[in-house]
Formats: sequence, C-alpha cells, structure tokens
Amino acid sequence: MRIAILGGTFDPIHNGHLAAAEIVARAFDVDEVHFIPTFVPPHKPAAGITSPFHRFAMAALATEPFDRFRVSTMEVDMLEPRYSVDTLERMHQKYPGSHFVFITGTDMYRDIESWKEFRRLLSLTDFAVVHRPGFPMRDDVVPIQVIDEGPATTGEETGVYYFPRLEHRISSTEIRLEISRGGDTSAWLSSPVGTYIEKHKLYA
Ligand code: ATP
Ligand code: MG
Repeated sequence: MRIAILGGTFDPIHNGHLAAAEIVARAFDVDEVHFIPTFVPPHKPAAGITSPFHRFAMAALATEPFDRFRVSTMEVDMLEPRYSVDTLERMHQKYPGSHFVFITGTDMYRDIESWKEFRRLLSLTDFAVVHRPGFPMRDDVVPIQVIDEGPATTGEETGVYYFPRLEHRISSTEIRLEISRGGDTSAWLSSPVGTYIEKHKLYA
C-alpha cells in the first residue's frame, strides 16, 4: 500500500492543506492520505491553540468528500507531542510493507535539519515538499527531484520531491485573524468547516 501523510495543527484545516494532499496523492498514486492532527499541550506558550477535539472534527469534516483521505488519531491519542520520526516508525509497524510519502510545505522543510533524527526520518519515508509562497525550496540538505507535472516515479530508495506548482497564499493564522475581525473566510475553507467554526464560536 502507498500512504501519504500530512501532519499539522489544522487550526483550522483549509483549502491549502487539501490542495497539497490532492496534488501529492495524484502524483504518487497513493491509496490513502492520512491527515494527522498534532497534539499541542494546553499549557504551551503557543497556547490559544484550539482543542485537539475541535481540530480533529474539522479535519474529519473537510476530508469526508475525498475517498482516499483519512483522519488519524495517532498523535492526539497520545496526549503529548510526538516527533515525526516516531510517528513514521509507528506507521511502518501498523502498515508493514507500505511505502510512505510525508507531505510538508516549503516553510516546514526549511528547518528540516532541526527535526529529531531527520536523516533517519528521510530513510523511513519519501518527502513531498509543496511550494508555499514566500518560502523558497532548499536543495542543500539532500538532492531533490522537481515534479512539474505527471507522476512521480519512486524507486527503492526514499527521496525528496518538490512540487513547485502550488500557489496557495493561505494560512490558518490568517484565517483565525480574519474571523476574529468578522471577515469572510468562506473562499479558504470547506463549507462544513465554516459552519462548524460559526456554531462553536471558534476564533471569534
Ligand atoms: P498556522 O498558520 O497556524 O501555522 P498553517 O496554515 O501553516 O497554520 P499547519 O497546520 O501549520 O497550517 O500546516 C500543516 C502542513 O501543511 C505544513 O507542512 C504546512 O507547510 C502545509 N501547508 C499549510 N498551508 C499551506 C499552503 N497554503 N500551501 C502549501 N502547504 C501548506
Ligand atoms: Mg504552519
């Protein structure tokens, strides 16, 4: 089985996340994409982060129309933050013999060297790095393969693939800000997520 993974706080999940998952799912012809909301401890300085239960619910609503998309409780179940390398290790145990593609934006990939055991992580999964406006791709960590269009052909070795074509200038931060100002964010969110946010008065 081929499985793509998209981790994030998803506070809230938006069309940029869905577009990234779609482009990678197509290029690698994956069977499933697992959206994995991260656990963020309530006492953390970055607090203000919405409960993992709400973030999970919004991810479930947004991914529901897509056959291949799943939402995973793997990280939130632990009730403590997890490192990607540990999550990948557990995915290999849970889905033996599977091939993994780990999706990140260029903003996240920029700091890849500070990730726990990033070399081991790169040996456990392919990386699909999608362009995020304002964050240039780096090619000085490991060699990268640019996927302009068409399928990505992966061999036995894991590698890093770059998708330059995505141009989604949206972030959850901007969406939260816009909602707090009473603005309209419907173009950036799937409609059940918008309704959920209103009902539960998130980010108000
Ligand atoms: P925040 O502003 O709260 O950090 P975010 O929009 O960056 O939210 P995250 O949940 O932090 O969303 O991101 C999860 C993953 O999705 C990351 O790898 C991030 O780089 C990627 N991503 C998020 N938004 C986009 C986008 N607009 N285009 C491409 N990738 C994106
Ligand atoms: Mg982010």
